Amino acid sequence: MSSSLPFNTMMIRSLFTPLSPDQEMDDTPGFLAVLQGNSLVVPIGAEQELLRDGSLPAAGVPEDGTLRIGLWRGKPLRAVRIAVDAELPGEYEALPFQGPDVRLDNTLATIAGRAAQILHWERRSRFCSHCGGELVRIPAGWGKRCPACGDIHFPHIHPCIIVLVRHGAELLLIRNAAWSAGRFSLVAGFLDFGESLEECLQREVREEAGIEVTNIRYVGSQSWPFPSQQMIGFLADYAGGEVKPDGVEVVEADWFHEDALPQSPGGKRSIARWIIDTYGKCEEIRTP
Ligand SMILES: [Zn+2]
Repeated sequence: MSSSLPFNTMMIRSLFTPLSPDQEMDDTPGFLAVLQGNSLVVPIGAEQELLRDGSLPAAGVPEDGTLRIGLWRGKPLRAVRIAVDAELPGEYEALPFQGPDVRLDNTLATIAGRAAQILHWERRSRFCSHCGGELVRIPAGWGKRCPACGDIHFPHIHPCIIVLVRHGAELLLIRNAAWSAGRFSLVAGFLDFGESLEECLQREVREEAGIEVTNIRYVGSQSWPFPSQQMIGFLADYAGGEVKPDGVEVVEADWFHEDALPQSPGGKRSIARWIIDTYGKCEEIRTP
């Protein structure tokens, strides 16, 4: 089930109760999620955990103050961001919540991702994008209202399709121009005005790899807090054309046999990895 992927709520359902800052919580310090870039600051060594008792590392000057985002293990959880270049005291380390470091488990990665997504929105929703007025919070949620012009603003979560295209026992993988040599993943892209998800998928595959697809099937979705996407996963079958990267956004595109994929396409916590692991084998062809 894609709902159990890291960064989706299911991963922390038993530990975390989402609340917005205006909702009632007790005044105990509780827990603190300290973010530095896309990393979570944790004490070195001991069992990894969010910082207890609400105490910031000495060198950690918060960028925006702390924000209560819910309850963690029944106690208030606040989130705070410190400067990317702040030097941490020796007893702390910053572990990337997208990276390969297994010391940060899926649970902590998920709450860190959620905190990062919320702080990203809060920082970008101080003022009305229509009139420049200062926004106020709509009670019990993350939406904002502009008292000056009446506009309503809700969190910007960007829908993005991602698709595994199959051609018999071969899978279509692409390399984005921004990725290092040898790193491949699935075709993905942002929804455009007026598009259905299927139309977006067909356009992205056409643009990035030059081919047509058919038999499009939804397989699952994932919240992706880098900074705020909703990844919507599909399978599709090859329908025609010759694979050719666009040469700008995508510098390599090719078919890879399901038994000879490049090393670890997609990050280990990504829906790309999950789709390949779950749907990457063509059982009909493998059956003698
Ligand atoms: Zn306004």
